[in-house]
Amino acid sequence: MNDWCQSLPIVRGRYTFKASMAEQTWFRVGGPADVLFKPVDLEDLISFLKQRPTDIPINIVGAGSNLLVRDGGLRGVVIRLGRGFATIERDGLEIEVGGGALDRTVALTCGDWGLSGLEFLVGVPGTIGGAVKMNAGCYGTETKDRLIWADVVDLGGQVQRLTAAELAMSYRHSNIRADQIVTRARFKCEMGDPQAIKRRLETLLAEREASQPVKGRTGGSTFRNPEGFSAWNLIDEAGCRGLKVGQAQVSEKHCNFLLNTDNCTATDLETLGETVRARVKANSGHDLHWEIVRIGEA
Ligand SMILES: Cc1cc2nc3c(=O)[nH]c(=O)nc-3n(C[C@H](O)[C@H](O)[C@H](O)COP(=O)(O)OP(=O)(O)OC[C@H]3O[C@@H](n4cnc5c(N)ncnc54)[C@H](O)[C@@H]3O)c2cc1C
Repeated sequence: MNDWCQSLPIVRGRYTFKASMAEQTWFRVGGPADVLFKPVDLEDLISFLKQRPTDIPINIVGAGSNLLVRDGGLRGVVIRLGRGFATIERDGLEIEVGGGALDRTVALTCGDWGLSGLEFLVGVPGTIGGAVKMNAGCYGTETKDRLIWADVVDLGGQVQRLTAAELAMSYRHSNIRADQIVTRARFKCEMGDPQAIKRRLETLLAEREASQPVKGRTGGSTFRNPEGFSAWNLIDEAGCRGLKVGQAQVSEKHCNFLLNTDNCTATDLETLGETVRARVKANSGHDLHWEIVRIGEA
């Protein structure tokens, strides 16, 4: 345990020391975090932020579904929102959701209420905090199309409500900074026929399962689509389908997904990604940019 761990504030949530980040991410790779902190609720989070030693780095993770943590792990404290941030409340045609709620649960709950508009979230395996930060989207809808506002807490413990316009969301991007934590968000929906919504949810899940390795250890789309092009197509044309580095592999099913096929390292995955980038550049001249967020020490 590091010396600074002694000066961490007393919290109601949980600290885990030398926490395995592999257990916190979909890729199932990555070294440990010095400390993982799961606040129980907003008050607990703010209290921690106001009293924490200010010279230690802080990282925020959601469900770890778009995240590659390097093998050396993360210094300082990693915050992951706990159960108190997973609430989903209805207010007429709008819903308010905690930043730690799972996208899938939100889509299914709205379906049960006969609320339409957020069906696209059913196959996104992240949290609402991650969806707002990354402007998650698929099948023609993005988080920004439904978001009204998001509450963010900065590392000084100050809460701010930002409207969707203020977040300036664009393709897989929002202007939420690395030192801001999304704790709550409000979305607009419309009334729909519960049976029709249910069928749409099932169709979306089936389409995804047919085209993506959703049961694999993956981080979703690895690279952003260059304007007017599909990353998977450029990767395929560069001959990278199925390419391997160690036990890391470009998915045969969807070339823009990388897989941990057995027990690979984060280095294998990052090297594979960089190899793909170099081959695509040589083949088509396109510069692929990582969509997956890479953090931690090599
Ligand atoms: C099988 C599979 C399919 C996927 N399909 C899609 C898809 O169709 N569309 C799509 O857009 N994405 C998709 N993804 C990627 C991923 O699910 C989304 O980007 C998701 O929004 C990430 O949320 P997360 O909670 O897992 O965030 P993480 O992966 O944990 O983190 C991603 C980034 O968000 C930040 N973050 C997380 N939570 C918060 C918070 N509360 N406050 C502030 N910042 C936060 C992290 O610091 C990091 O920078 C897929 C991933 C997988 C594995």
